[in-house]
Amino acid sequence: MAEITIRVGDITKEDVDAIVNAANNSLLGGGGVDGAIHRAAGPELLAACVPLGGCPTGKAKMTSGFNLPARYIIHTVGPIWRGGEQGEAELLRSCYLHCLQLAEDNGLKTIAFPAISCGVYGYPLDQACGIACRTVKESLESSTCIEEVRFICFNDAIEKAYRKAMAQS
Ligand code: ADP
Repeated sequence: MAEITIRVGDITKEDVDAIVNAANNSLLGGGGVDGAIHRAAGPELLAACVPLGGCPTGKAKMTSGFNLPARYIIHTVGPIWRGGEQGEAELLRSCYLHCLQLAEDNGLKTIAFPAISCGVYGYPLDQACGIACRTVKESLESSTCIEEVRFICFNDAIEKAYRKAMAQS
């Protein structure tokens, strides 16, 4: 069974096969972790994203990591929190599933996730961490090549929420 690790940090610094970007539907850059990834990867990333033609919520697309330590970036689009009755949980789960499937399809061993939808998209942190932990644990049971999944937490409060969710899932 692959290892799941939880760490405080800046995902742009992670030396893994792929980092996940919590992007928007345009895939043309934005604020939060998306902006940080574009700044760190360099302008070639935007040039690589333009021909992708955007990405539906809950799906994922991959590019090179350009100037990042990570070899690849998996761009996914989390749901905007609209109260919880608009399919948010299923869409967030779908983000994790599609990212892990892309990693698996490309033979990647290590993948790092930010807290998708937990910034400007407003997803309640505890609920989002529960979905992240349950979905990753479940997927790893049938994964053949992934060896490590890292949850990269931008601050201590996020880390605490992941640790609690991991213990409960
Ligand atoms: P979303 O639009 O999906 O909510 P955000 O980028 O606003 O995406 O926030 C997603 C999460 O990423 C938040 O928990 C935020 O604190 C975190 N975050 C922002 N910058 C970084 C970074 N450099 N490394 C890791 N996490 C980050």
